[in-house]
Amino acid sequence: MFVQVALALPLRRLFDYRLPDGQSCQIGVRVEVPFGRQKLVGLVVNTKLESDYPANKIKPVIQVLDTRPIYNQQMLKTLAWLQQYYLCPPGEVYVNLLPKKLKNGAPTELLEEPIWQVVAGAKAPEGRAYKQQALFHLLNKLGPTAQSLLKEDGFSSAQIKQLADKQLIEENTDLLTNKQVEIQPSEHDLTDEQQQVITNIQSKNNFAVHLLQGVTGSGKTEVYMRLMADVLAQNKQVLILVPEIGLTPQTLQRFQQRFHCQMSVLHSELNDSERHNAWLKAWLGISRIIIGTRSAVMVPAAELGLIVLDEEHDASYKQQDGLRYNARDVAIKRAADQNCPIVLGSATPSLESLANAHAGKFNWLHLHKRATAKLPPKPQLIDIKHQPLQSGLAYTVVQLMEKHLAAGQQVLVFLNRRGYSPALICHECGWVAECERCDKHLTYHRNIQQVNCHHCGYYAKPPAQCAECGSSQIVDWGIGTEQLEEWLQQRFPDANPVRIDRDSVRRKGELEAKLNAIQAGEHKLLIGTQMLAKGHHFPQLTLTVIVNLDNALYSTDFRAAEKMAQLLVQVAGRAGRAEKTGQVVVQTHFPNHNYLNTLIEKGYTELAQLLLKERADSQLPPYQYWCILRMEAQNQQLVEQVSQQIDSLFSEQICRHYQGVEVFANMPAPQEKRAGKYRQIIIFSAKQRSMLNAAMNQLTASLEQNDFAQKVRWLFDVDPLDLNG
Ligand code: ADP
Ligand code: ZN
Ligand code: ZN
Repeated sequence: MFVQVALALPLRRLFDYRLPDGQSCQIGVRVEVPFGRQKLVGLVVNTKLESDYPANKIKPVIQVLDTRPIYNQQMLKTLAWLQQYYLCPPGEVYVNLLPKKLKNGAPTELLEEPIWQVVAGAKAPEGRAYKQQALFHLLNKLGPTAQSLLKEDGFSSAQIKQLADKQLIEENTDLLTNKQVEIQPSEHDLTDEQQQVITNIQSKNNFAVHLLQGVTGSGKTEVYMRLMADVLAQNKQVLILVPEIGLTPQTLQRFQQRFHCQMSVLHSELNDSERHNAWLKAWLGISRIIIGTRSAVMVPAAELGLIVLDEEHDASYKQQDGLRYNARDVAIKRAADQNCPIVLGSATPSLESLANAHAGKFNWLHLHKRATAKLPPKPQLIDIKHQPLQSGLAYTVVQLMEKHLAAGQQVLVFLNRRGYSPALICHECGWVAECERCDKHLTYHRNIQQVNCHHCGYYAKPPAQCAECGSSQIVDWGIGTEQLEEWLQQRFPDANPVRIDRDSVRRKGELEAKLNAIQAGEHKLLIGTQMLAKGHHFPQLTLTVIVNLDNALYSTDFRAAEKMAQLLVQVAGRAGRAEKTGQVVVQTHFPNHNYLNTLIEKGYTELAQLLLKERADSQLPPYQYWCILRMEAQNQQLVEQVSQQIDSLFSEQICRHYQGVEVFANMPAPQEKRAGKYRQIIIFSAKQRSMLNAAMNQLTASLEQNDFAQKVRWLFDVDPLDLNG
């Protein structure tokens, strides 16, 4: 008997091996095989009785590693689609998606992990150990909880140990494999809208894509939990996908409090052991709920009965290296293969999903009202033409901030540009400090006295002199969050401004600490990038100032307006979530712009409609499917030449077999030079997804045979979100 094995190699093929006489194995198990002088762990994708290779050339399998397949038939089907659709080598999906220990051949056994519970009759610790108290209370509410989950809730091993040393909590050993779910009742009665949505979704038991469009705070999470309760009660598992986990430990705790059962939490910051356990617990069916960021979409939970994908428009669902998949699309495929419903939630659905909803492919559901608070306020446009600006803020806006702060309320200033200033220039001759590897402005970070390239990660000390004229008059140009913070510190010292962006919350726990301090009212003034726009509730926040979104109105990126609208709605949704009315102001040079006015006067859905019409008129996604071939090389001429050759190869040999597949563009990437490499893209487009995919598979096969293609680094990006990607 022969096996076809996927190996973690950058080759688009499977490898044949022979099973030792008398042995057999199932499809989907791991095997250890010889490869050259190495031993590799691979996955059996197929078994067969004959091989096309001469028998003496086929090496035997060293050992079969699993008795139970890692992937069942249904998962193997999804994986086969994944490989075919994203045009990648088999090893990328069959092997590289496994947690590292399994990829290295470790047995599918759980590593030991303590499960904690409160000692019967114990009382919360007293004094100033706030974290320990919080942990005690949480554990008291949750019942027995795995240590890994407590860490996701924001507690450290040290804090857990301290409580254990005080004999307030203890390990519970017999719960490791407990599959039980205890469902706590909801605190709320459903609103009519929520009830309708739930009834509608539950009336369709099998596969269906539900697009749940609901304003922030409309109770989408409550809807998810009701649906989950139902599915969990039928002894099925639930997969919840979120854009980012670190940002929202509150959401996790909400799920834990409602559902007392084992959960797997999966995201990129887990260490190998944590990932191993989380993955295996899902696979073994111990975890009834799996919550994770995009990569969790392929965790083989066999008893899946529901997938929820929150903030479905979020770009972080698209992986931008290696296997360049979109977790939203993969989740839909998984739900289809598993024949279970999937709910896509968002206040501002992507144009892709809206087009599917319009076409009747998605079941489009709405939550128009907020469950408790008033609706988010309508943003006001502030014309800043001819107005003097201080650190980017108009005088009238600063006055408005003063008014809200004087009333003891919180103010959020949103600026989506971190650093002190986006450029350093020479005051004498206009020279701009650029990254030599990317030809892009270097961002000045004053706190750490560095210039950074936000494209390739290059950093250096700020230049003391102009590279052109030698002048030492180097000045900063433009405003970043760091500078805004500095100015606001001076202007509103009593408001104790706090900045939240990727630079200010680098260390673990730092974000949580700042968010807690904001909740506690220690900071009245918040400065942030889009990091602050996601998922947080600030009840005392009554004014949101959006410093600038104008770039998006005239961008070369056709998705810029869509992203701008999503961001604006999301940021506006932070204000006035409690009983206080909020106010949102948007500074702009273009107060009459149609996009801005449509968004504000008629709402996101109307603007989306307008943008969709424009996309249809210009034959852009989602009305055309795109696949980008990305090429890069050290040498600019070479990469242009190769792309020309590939273009010709496609037109001459491939194109005519695949109706409607065209080269939409062959051009340098918008950011032509990055990290010292020159980048060229060919955009292929087609009306039919399957036709495009077939053509691209054919092209891939041709490129692998062609010598000229090997002179550059190339890869495919299917359904690209970003031309620069
Ligand atoms: P979303 O996920 O749409 O932002 P949430 O589910 O987080 O909304 O709900 C927002 C707030 O409203 C939460 O504090 C939640 O507890 C509350 N809430 C949700 N549904 C109801 C309801 N039916 N009645 C009262 N409060 C509700
Ligand atoms: Zn100069
Ligand atoms: Zn760079």
